[in-house]
Amino acid sequence: MVNKAQVGVLALQGDFAEHIEMLSNFDVDVHKIKNKSQLEKLDGLIIPGGESTTIKKLIDRYDFENAIKEKINHGMSLWGTCAGLICIANKLTEKDPIPMGIIDVEVSRNWFGRQVDSFETNIEFKGITENIKAVFIRAPIVTKVKNNVEILSKLTDGTIVAVKQDKILGTSFHPEISGSSKVHEFFINLTSS
Ligand code: GLN
Repeated sequence: MVNKAQVGVLALQGDFAEHIEMLSNFDVDVHKIKNKSQLEKLDGLIIPGGESTTIKKLIDRYDFENAIKEKINHGMSLWGTCAGLICIANKLTEKDPIPMGIIDVEVSRNWFGRQVDSFETNIEFKGITENIKAVFIRAPIVTKVKNNVEILSKLTDGTIVAVKQDKILGTSFHPEISGSSKVHEFFINLTSS
């Protein structure tokens, strides 16, 4: 029998419950992660949306950063959605929070804030055959990528909203509340690859 993938959701702040709910549709073991010792058993970790300065403060307070990086060096996959993407970026156009520098992209927070706070749209996503509904909530965008980063999705105006580097995935939108579990399926396949 093949062992089930062990997938964790960082449950410090934000919409971790919605990710846990989505993951329950799959044949994986799901873990609500509240301290770094729980990372040990994981094959994949999701950092959810929420408020990135708060999430990063709690990552620092509970000493998660090095433990996450160590696990990635040993093959763990990681997916940052929205505030999660902000936390894992290499660089931000803002000075807060100080991101962890796990994926080689520059991110700009609250990109759509000046026009509209929240919206949804259908997008193409490389590796997923059908178009998916993407929900953006005070969302960041990716403003620069290094060569080793694959762009998985752009809006029609060229704005980059999903990226991947090895087993690290970043999305500016919120697949956990879109009603479609296709991006979770994509992440689980990445985790098991
Ligand atoms: N604007 C939020 C931030 O900068 C992210 C919003 C979200 O995760 N939905 O932290």
